[in-house]
Amino acid sequence: PTTPATNFIRNHIDADLAAGKYTIRRWSGAPGLAAQQLAGEPDPAKIRTRFPPEPNGYLHLGHAKSICLNFGLARDYGGRCHLRFDDTNPEKEEKEYVDSITEAVRWLGFSWDEGDENNLYYASNYFDWMFACAEYLIESGHAYVDSQSAEEMRARRGTLTEQGQDSPYRNRSIEENRALFQRMKAGEFPDGAHVLRAKIDMASPNINLRDPAIYRIRHAAHHNTGDKWCVYPMYTFAHPIEDALENITHSICTLEFEDQRPFYDWLLARLAEGGLMQRPLPQQIEFSRLNLTYVVLSKRKLIQLVEEKHVSGWDDPRMPTIVGARRRGYTPEGFRLFAERIGVSKADSLIDYAVFEDCMREVLNESSERRVAVLDPLKLIIDNYPAGQSEECFAPNHPLKPELGKRAMPFSRELWIEREDFMETPSKGYHRLYPGNRVRLRYGYIVECTGCDKDVDGNVVAVHCNYFPDTKSGTPGADSIKVKGNLHWVSVAEAYSAEVRLYDRLFAAPAPGARREGDAEGVERNFLDDLNPDSMRTVIARLEPSLKTAQAEDRYQFERHGYFVVDRVDARPGAPVFNRTATLRQSIAP
Ligand code: ATP
Ligand code: MG
Ligand code: MG
Repeated sequence: PTTPATNFIRNHIDADLAAGKYTIRRWSGAPGLAAQQLAGEPDPAKIRTRFPPEPNGYLHLGHAKSICLNFGLARDYGGRCHLRFDDTNPEKEEKEYVDSITEAVRWLGFSWDEGDENNLYYASNYFDWMFACAEYLIESGHAYVDSQSAEEMRARRGTLTEQGQDSPYRNRSIEENRALFQRMKAGEFPDGAHVLRAKIDMASPNINLRDPAIYRIRHAAHHNTGDKWCVYPMYTFAHPIEDALENITHSICTLEFEDQRPFYDWLLARLAEGGLMQRPLPQQIEFSRLNLTYVVLSKRKLIQLVEEKHVSGWDDPRMPTIVGARRRGYTPEGFRLFAERIGVSKADSLIDYAVFEDCMREVLNESSERRVAVLDPLKLIIDNYPAGQSEECFAPNHPLKPELGKRAMPFSRELWIEREDFMETPSKGYHRLYPGNRVRLRYGYIVECTGCDKDVDGNVVAVHCNYFPDTKSGTPGADSIKVKGNLHWVSVAEAYSAEVRLYDRLFAAPAPGARREGDAEGVERNFLDDLNPDSMRTVIARLEPSLKTAQAEDRYQFERHGYFVVDRVDARPGAPVFNRTATLRQSIAP
């Protein structure tokens, strides 16, 4: 294993560890934590990070970056990373998403359970504690119930250049706030009638410190707590509490939360003063989110792609979801390599999709056995090879790994070759089959093209050649004739047909939906206009016989074409369907 490159987050952690920041840390013993965590015991993990998805959608490539970062840090520092479902929002969450998220994290090669399948964290398990924190803020004069309408609140919040104004309810007495908050909890008021706000500073230059809302009324059932609650914590209030209760040391999030950090710190400092949290407290660190060319990651847009059936579903191999990437044939190792290679920083960046694909190719080149598939078959007839005769040619399973051995490929008088490997009238620089030219049939013989057959419309239906019997690969005569072309083939009698799906990028433009040069002023583009019309093409290919028994998710390099995987959804025993994961950097040459 290579040493991971250092970055500003690692530097931060190194400094914290060198300063002994967490040596006396103990479990806070908060309610609802997974059973194996020991209240009041010293924490054996050096650092704790977390990956906190909201279970309201499928994870995408951006989440994969965050997963590799958080779980990777825990692994490298002898710490732990919590998989926590941020399910404080009552309406949207579903079990289907919880399951797909756990499966995605596991697939990426990380584990959170330390042997206990149930060791998952749910923010909703802390609702009692969060409510107690809110009550403490009221009792200590740090929170008040506001009864303004949403519009009034917005109007008084001010802007970046204009400071906010105090709510007329800001100076309610502690008794009044306490009573109102209890009545909110008891369900006496409709949604929106009151909110609980932190009492900080309406004149703060940071709008997030202008008395942010921390609890709201929401008459809605929750998937975990049912009808127990009709008040729910706001995300910005809940998140720091979740982190602190779980002894998270480094709470890593994307840059848009940078302006929330002062509130994160303010809240935990107040709760620590009140004895509701223990020091050392977690600290928030922000990094820039992943953006990729040719890809959309916005949840709204992904939903639209699925609902309007531009793709076959969340796991369509063209989707930038983790389930889609898996079905496409991308590998967990490739994801981890990509995360390592792009690193983390605070600068907004747009990564070229080619960087992602190259990481996948790098891993696949190393790990995939080679096979032969003819995607656009044209018959080659070797006129001087005896009819009915057949022999074996031996093809290495991996050119860089002789230990993986060779397999036998039947060779006979009639072979399938790629249609584009023949040109009746060759273009300049074309070294493949054309009348009078010689090429090697890989692992087989050198042949010389003699002509072709055409149908009534002039389409080429078969190519003819003669072979040189003493030029078989691996025999002394193999080098007796020099050729430039080196073609793949499968024997007609033994080949079998299978569906192969040739995937390409879902979008044809690097920034889908972005304005283009020359667009009239005010023109708004739609990302759907940039869908690539050729993002999937299905062919019936001719494959070498050994592929017939390929199993779901087996990955291969089809020589001269690229990387392919057996589709995990549509494959049937004895009838694999293949998806193209990526082309070779340079396909079909010379
Ligand atoms: P939404 O808020 O619309 O539900 P989200 O992408 O923030 O979308 P979460 O489920 O909250 O969804 O994300 C979980 C974690 O993944 C967060 O910590 C977030 O910072 C991280 N994350 C999400 N998108 C990206 C991205 N593009 N790059 C890096 N990290 C991301
Ligand atoms: Mg979010
Ligand atoms: Mg998301």
